[in-house]
Amino acid sequence: MVQSFEIAVFEGDGIGPEITAPTIRILEALSKSQQDYGLTFTKAPAGAALYAQTGESLPSASMETARNADAILLAAMGLPSVRYEDGTEISPQLDLRIELDLFAGVRPVRVVPGQPTPLKLSGGQSIDFVLIRESTEGLFFSKGKGEVTKDEARETLLITRKTSEKLFRFAFEYAQQRKVLGTGKGRVTCVDKANVFRAFAFFREIFDGVAREYSQLTADHAYVDATALWMVEKPWLFDVLVTENMFGDILSDLGAGIMGGLGLAPSADIGHDHAVFQPCHGSAPDIAGKGVANPFAMILSAAMMLDWLGTKHNFEKMVSDGAVLRDAVYKVVADGSVLTRDLGGTSGTDAAADAVLQQITAKA
Ligand code: NAD
Repeated sequence: MVQSFEIAVFEGDGIGPEITAPTIRILEALSKSQQDYGLTFTKAPAGAALYAQTGESLPSASMETARNADAILLAAMGLPSVRYEDGTEISPQLDLRIELDLFAGVRPVRVVPGQPTPLKLSGGQSIDFVLIRESTEGLFFSKGKGEVTKDEARETLLITRKTSEKLFRFAFEYAQQRKVLGTGKGRVTCVDKANVFRAFAFFREIFDGVAREYSQLTADHAYVDATALWMVEKPWLFDVLVTENMFGDILSDLGAGIMGGLGLAPSADIGHDHAVFQPCHGSAPDIAGKGVANPFAMILSAAMMLDWLGTKHNFEKMVSDGAVLRDAVYKVVADGSVLTRDLGGTSGTDAAADAVLQQITAKA
């Protein structure tokens, strides 16, 4: 019997619907070509445009769809023109992380030969590391709670032992899996600012405690400022980096820059029971509606979803389809003839997605 998985789909704002449609088209083609699993997609309205229309950014029905799904696919949410009275933006994607306890933000940074990157790599050299960003506390815990007077503003960071232990165990397990698959070195680096802040000395001490449970792996530390430098100077040395929410937010955009831009940066927010898969980029309102958005980060996020679902449910075929999808995107990027404008090409969203589909069909 074909096992079917329910996917909640948040198209969100701006370019969201434009990159979601071709991603679903590709996922449907992949799953239909197999006889052993199926995917069904249920749309969940949410976002800034919805808030502007209805006063609700994440309706409870959409939250229920997310909670009941096997996995969640999200494009991007938020519009700079739509704000709460305190000046902050509508960001239901952050609320989902809290509601579903998605404590581990997984941000792969990968540069394969032929992929455009601002870094100078010697022949055949590639980059493949993963940034794991704590996603429910840190400085983001202060969202909506900051105190602002006429003369002062205060935002307070939160780091708890409970979440940090879960995060570090996740990072070590992830590194272990990469080592077994031959894609990683078996090394986890805690990225912090323990030289200045007591909160980060606490973070580091918890990391060291968890590291002792994984004596087969290498554990070390790096300060966040030095990490930013090394991500540019010698990124090939990294394997798994684990860090606080705000540091991870900033470093993951640096990672996207290394990969040739946000259009190639996928991500996953993973908890023990739920997971959201979404590109690192936002809703790109400056190019929305023009059919020029790069769908690759969304498609690569969908590949991460197949990996995660397949591993969780012991479905080899989904894991291998995740790899097929990822390889197809990188082949199109390396080939260079069908690229969107952000990658230096002239193709539109649908043509870029079709090129990925053709790669998959050619391989089948
Ligand atoms: P952004 O990522 O939307 O855009 C930054 C730049 O990258 C823009 O020039 C945009 O055109 C370009 N870009 C982004 N994605 C692209 C793609 N797929 N193809 C081609 N070009 C692409 O960041 P921003 O402008 O700072 O934010 C816009 C809105 O998105 C804001 O409301 C912000 O809050 C929101 N946002 C949402 C998320 C999310 O949903 N996870 C993440 C970041 C920003």
